[in-house]
Amino acid sequence: MSKAVPSILKLKCPKCRKGDLFVNKSSYKYKGFFDMPEKCSECGQDFEIETGFYYGAMYVSYGITIAITVAIFVALTILNLFSITSFLILDIVALVVTAPYVTRVSRSIWIALMVKYDANAVKIHERKTHP
Ligand SMILES: [Zn+2]
Repeated sequence: MSKAVPSILKLKCPKCRKGDLFVNKSSYKYKGFFDMPEKCSECGQDFEIETGFYYGAMYVSYGITIAITVAIFVALTILNLFSITSFLILDIVALVVTAPYVTRVSRSIWIALMVKYDANAVKIHERKTHP
């Protein structure tokens, strides 16, 4: 489980943890922002498991957004800097800055919940494609 977390954060295929989930490695390039390969380049795992598969990732994204908002609220309160204005400004800036990564990592978390890690995934895939 512990190795799953860096794999999810690095937006890797949940099955082999080697292939990339997104065509663009940078979360901050606008072009092709949501583009995902159809299948994992390393193990052949299907990334679009069914039509609309990533609708569920919106709930994950919503949860992360709430967590960021709560964290800012708590931090400002602890530092004794809380005011509605400082809270709103910081929260909006934080959400805008993190939005591209949050969107992608939400998909990464979502597919990792559905697809189990398989240490032999790449080998099995190679045997199938190059018998
Ligand atoms: Zn893979």
